Amino acid sequence: MSKVVIIGCGGVGTVAAFKCAENPDVFSSIVIASRTQSKCDAVAEKIRKATGHNSITTDRVDADNVDEIVALLRRHEPELVINVALPYQDLAIMEACLQTGVNYLDTANYEPKDVAHFEYSWQWAYRDRFEQAGLCAILGCGFDPGVSGVFTAYAAKHYFSEMETLDIVDCNAGDHGKAFATNFNPEINIREITQNGRYYQDGKWVTTKPLEIHQTLTYPNIGGRDSYLLYHEELESLVKNFPSIRRARFWMTFGQEYLTHLRVIQNIGMARIDEVDYNGTKIIPLQFLKAVLPNPQDLGENYHGETSIGCRIAGRDKEGNPMTYYIYNNCSHEEAYRETGMQAVSYTTGVPAMIGAMMLLKGLWKKPGVWNVEEFDPDPFMEQLGKQGLPWHEVINGDLEL
Ligand code: NDP
Repeated sequence: MSKVVIIGCGGVGTVAAFKCAENPDVFSSIVIASRTQSKCDAVAEKIRKATGHNSITTDRVDADNVDEIVALLRRHEPELVINVALPYQDLAIMEACLQTGVNYLDTANYEPKDVAHFEYSWQWAYRDRFEQAGLCAILGCGFDPGVSGVFTAYAAKHYFSEMETLDIVDCNAGDHGKAFATNFNPEINIREITQNGRYYQDGKWVTTKPLEIHQTLTYPNIGGRDSYLLYHEELESLVKNFPSIRRARFWMTFGQEYLTHLRVIQNIGMARIDEVDYNGTKIIPLQFLKAVLPNPQDLGENYHGETSIGCRIAGRDKEGNPMTYYIYNNCSHEEAYRETGMQAVSYTTGVPAMIGAMMLLKGLWKKPGVWNVEEFDPDPFMEQLGKQGLPWHEVINGDLEL
């Protein structure tokens, strides 16, 4: 029986709160806190009605401000903070957790606001302090990063003596009926996609131009989709934690219409993240764009189709024979919406965040320090995935196409 504070009440925060409320034996008390408390109030009311959970409260916090987070955590004294605000807030929330003796979990690694650069070094630098404080921080516990790391750890534990190649494949074959919209926070999403691509090969990182490398991959129940090589943060920790991997890549599908819009957005300067002067007011074009794009939280109602995210791994099995392995989950936008009012991208992120929190609160994933998900035992997490709405499937010795 534990209390959690969820910081951030967007699409992912709503799903995380919903799923915590569906598991009241673990999450006996839930606080939803964000910059705009009225949004938290509306979400809390909806969840109370749907689940009957009798201890959901809300609060307000500016999570860029360590003192405000410290005050929030002192008011509520939770065992854990689930950080599903934006990556910019990660370090401030970790700092506040250290000052108040609270465990920490997030779904995206820290990114400074003024450079679109993501790497774990800033958060890994907190290892000693969390360890000395006897607190546990779990990093990147959404789907990718998150389940992608747990899938890889599961493959290593149960199937492989040596993993040689890892390809994380992420397909959204859904249709929301809008000309252009992003599936999670537009600012974070566009920063990620417009970066150079990067993959790991024989101990080195190879950089590509943005979306330069692509090929058709076949996704279960969906079919062939053009898939683009991107850099994704979990590659950094996975090649460290599984050093036998000699090539690691990440692929994501995009439709032509989406890519055309993206190109125009970039060409006209709306993807810029530096300040520009507009009639005497400083604005950041990408943040302004976010204000006029559809809110990812509102996409769910007319969203059809499925996501399919998984890991394709090649290497040697426990007996030393060559082996391929594909493990994936397909998630329906309609079903995610029916359960939580959110689409599948928010759902596939919020459910694993809740499961990671459950692992920590049950003491199954709890050790002092700062950890990536693949550093824990994957089995209890995998057991919950199916039960909590994200069943997974395996293909052994199939064609990986890669
Ligand atoms: P949204 O933009 O929908 O929601 C973000 C929430 O954070 C909003 O409630 C917002 O408040 C709040 N917030 C922003 N800044 C602050 C602040 N300074 N203080 C307090 N609250 C703040 O984003 P999503 O729900 O789509 O995404 C949430 C996180 O999940 C992101 O970090 C994203 O990168 C990550 N993610 C991870 C994935 C994975 O698989 N690992 C996949 C998808 C997303 P307000 O409403 O007032 O703006």
